[in-house]
Amino acid sequence: MNLTLHTSRIIETIRDIEYGTLYIFIYLLFCLISFYKEIFLNSLQNKYLQKIKVKDKYIQCSICLDYFNLDEYAYILKCNHSFHRDCILQWLNIKKTCPLCRIELELNN
Ligand SMILES: [Zn+2]
Ligand SMILES: [Zn+2]
Repeated sequence: MNLTLHTSRIIETIRDIEYGTLYIFIYLLFCLISFYKEIFLNSLQNKYLQKIKVKDKYIQCSICLDYFNLDEYAYILKCNHSFHRDCILQWLNIKKTCPLCRIELELNN
């Protein structure tokens, strides 16, 4: 076998391994970030929200204004305003108030 060809094949193999390793590394990093984000969002949820099963079909999420389906889960703040989990957690990530009535959530009752 031609030596130049042989060398270039070795280099290609090494490069493929490096890309593979890089992809795995990025994938793991992504998993780790999602994992910690979920832990963080759960801690927000446990601290400020109460999960209830919707029994009234006219309950609305105060952020996206969609109505809840019956037996869907709604998340309520201490002011009794109800939201989707994703809608309110995005908000709580930035502000610790109710987006509707602006009640301070950090203050103890
Ligand atoms: Zn919503
Ligand atoms: Zn409120």
